[in-house]
Amino acid sequence: DAAMYAAKRRHSHGWELYAQTAEDLAEGLLADELTNAVRGGRMAVVYQPIVNLADGRMIGAEALVRWPGRDVFPDVFVPLAEKTGLIGELGMFVLREALTHAAAWRAAMPEFYVTVNLSAHQLREPELAARVVAELDRAGLPARHLVLELTESALVTDRTDISVLELLRAHGIRIAIDDFGTGYSSLRYLTRLPVDVLKLDRSFVGELNGEPEGSAVTEAVIRLSQILRLSLVAEGVETEAQVRELLLLGCVTGQGYYFSRPLDAPGMDRLIGEVSGQPVHT
Ligand code: C2E
Ligand code: MG
Ligand code: MG
Ligand code: MG
Repeated sequence: DAAMYAAKRRHSHGWELYAQTAEDLAEGLLADELTNAVRGGRMAVVYQPIVNLADGRMIGAEALVRWPGRDVFPDVFVPLAEKTGLIGELGMFVLREALTHAAAWRAAMPEFYVTVNLSAHQLREPELAARVVAELDRAGLPARHLVLELTESALVTDRTDISVLELLRAHGIRIAIDDFGTGYSSLRYLTRLPVDVLKLDRSFVGELNGEPEGSAVTEAVIRLSQILRLSLVAEGVETEAQVRELLLLGCVTGQGYYFSRPLDAPGMDRLIGEVSGQPVHT
């Protein structure tokens, strides 16, 4: 708790440092709470439908972690979990939840797949592939129903071991590059990386405005995906105009608030029960 952190700091470094690191203190407290929430089984997973843009039918869903009852979002607590080493546990929790649900949803939608976000830290875990395969077995889900999402920056570091990706793919698990186009790496790596899917970052979808300037990057990425025979998923699709422009440009898959916000598992159950092969529009 707060008193303990303060005491530790006072003991080892003196009060000056404690005063300078009030932010560290707050972060330490939040990290403790997060650890307790993860170990206490109090985290949750929500799912955002991924749809065929032409007819709105759901083909899969992205699993996104949530901290129920707390106003703290993954953009904050995922980096914190990475920093404190909790990400392995948190990531396995999300994976297990997602695979269990996907196994159930697959009954209504035979080709349904779930995508799970992975941190760079998890990629450095030598046992990653074995663990993911063990979780697939536990859930009774064939590997083709799982896509693992990694950001460009996670994939393009000196420490990234391509063989882990190759191992995952050898098992039939697909790899997606998340937020594609926002990394600062060169495009050269794309032809070397063993990946299957590009997820066009939502910032580019947000720029679509019917003008060439607005669609330049999207068009280039669509072309790139075609040449390299990669699937493409547009993120952050919010308007009907964006759907139309994406289709016109040749992008056939997407996700975003226009179709559905992320839903909790009961929400997904209802959606799948209701629509089962019908267009998604919540
Ligand atoms: P991401 O993987 O790129 O996930 C997409 C984010 O965009 C999600 O935010 C989603 O709720 C949001 N989003 C979806 N549709 C729209 C839209 O139409 N408009 C806008 N403005 N936003 C939309 P969320 O859930 O807050 O997650 C943020 C990031 O946190 C994720 O970005 C991902 O990088 C990370 N994250 C989430 N769950 C996990 C996890 O289980 N493990 C890891 N390692 N990272 C996670
Ligand atoms: Mg993602
Ligand atoms: Mg993304
Ligand atoms: Mg993101």
